[in-house]
Amino acid sequence: MVKWTWAALLLAGAALGQTSSTVAVLAGFDATPAPGVLGAMQTELRSLFTPAGLSLEWYALEAPAFLGRPDAVVAVRFTGACRWDWVSPPLPVAGVLAWTARIDGQLQPLVTVDCARISAFVDAPSEALLGRALARVVAHELYHYLTRQVTHTHSALNRLSVRPRDLLAPAAHFDAAELAALKKGSA
Ligand SMILES: [Zn+2]
Repeated sequence: MVKWTWAALLLAGAALGQTSSTVAVLAGFDATPAPGVLGAMQTELRSLFTPAGLSLEWYALEAPAFLGRPDAVVAVRFTGACRWDWVSPPLPVAGVLAWTARIDGQLQPLVTVDCARISAFVDAPSEALLGRALARVVAHELYHYLTRQVTHTHSALNRLSVRPRDLLAPAAHFDAAELAALKKGSA
């Protein structure tokens, strides 16, 4: 019994080693984000990408530390204030919430996320929910870059015209095809 347990543990470790990839995220903020928003965003992103075998590691864009040997590096610039303000009235929102740079049609590891626009778009009732909404927008852009796909589907995370409820609903996840594309893209 003891031998079997050790064998099972070793096999599990080997499987994890084969499927786990690391993405270094270099995050830059125009304004210091609220800790509650940032924490909720990182927690949501971890739960979205872990099933794809992807581990996101966070670094400051302005002063990146030694990155180790990540499988991918992506810079994410957050414009506007990533803060929840309960007194801010809902604003009319026009334009995209985030975008990934392209040069000659090729996706670049440069994502811009408009915090102010997302905040106005979802009108989140708390810091935690604003963080969740930001995470899903970031996840959408990371998916584009990591899979090198510019097309969209009708899934909650990969649709072209995202709705506030897609960003705030309690549970969201990449579907099986998306997880497969992420695993393939980061292999
Ligand atoms: Zn898109």
